[in-house]
Amino acid sequence: MLQLSLFDPNPTPARPATQGNADVIYADASAILARPTGRLADLDFVINPYQGCTFACTYCYAAFFVPEEERRERWGQWVRVKTNAIARLRNSRQNLHGKTVLMSSATDPYQPIEAKLELTRSLLPILAKRGANLAVLSRSPLVTRDIDLFQTFDRINITMSITTDSDEVRKRFEPQCASIDRRFEAITQLSREGFRTRINVAPLLPLNDARSFADRIRDAGVSRVHINTFHESSGPFASGTRQPALAIAKEMGWTEHRRERVLRELTHYLNRNGRRLAA
Ligand code: SF4
Repeated sequence: MLQLSLFDPNPTPARPATQGNADVIYADASAILARPTGRLADLDFVINPYQGCTFACTYCYAAFFVPEEERRERWGQWVRVKTNAIARLRNSRQNLHGKTVLMSSATDPYQPIEAKLELTRSLLPILAKRGANLAVLSRSPLVTRDIDLFQTFDRINITMSITTDSDEVRKRFEPQCASIDRRFEAITQLSREGFRTRINVAPLLPLNDARSFADRIRDAGVSRVHINTFHESSGPFASGTRQPALAIAKEMGWTEHRRERVLRELTHYLNRNGRRLAA
């Protein structure tokens, strides 16, 4: 059931103040549809229903988009709910017909608070009704909850981020995220339901076995795999909250040389036997 009433002008009191150990903040946003830039520039719009993300990945670059220093430093310990997101989208005059809208670029639209608030879910019928194409990007198995609404889009692709084949490694870099098994189960289910699916290995983390990881990705039925690695020398990965991930990488011997070697191996196994999955 859609919980639109949570975001009505006269909201019900069911607005959790915390999510686990994180603060939940409720605030209006100045806009909900944004024009993507940089590597996302080939998309038409991006929607981030939330600011912040309680998945708290140690490598997350999205922290750098937060203007307040205190919030950048506390990345993962708060999430801001865009309370007027539904009204903003409904009232937007943008022509969305045939336009690709990404959910999301700087937050996870299916992070834990979404299970309670259903804000992402509430935006989907508005996008479908206006003829938008949807691109979903998440690290969460909760994405399968919205299969019924995904089926109302003419064009949709769903990407699951899975960065390693080792839950020990996952627990170091992204301890609040779901297990690797649960993420594979979710994306496999979506593939079987007939959706166009992808896996992001971004960033590539240490692997137990590149070949079996590639086999598992291939068995998930995805049409494309995007892989990228850490960058230590320039850009947002070089500073701020990026440092915790770099420290863990150093401790684990995840050197540039090793990353490049594993990247080559994984790409080779993903593209073997005439089936090219990784660019
Ligand atoms: S799930 Fe995505 S947005 Fe959330 S902390 Fe991890 S990398 Fe950042």
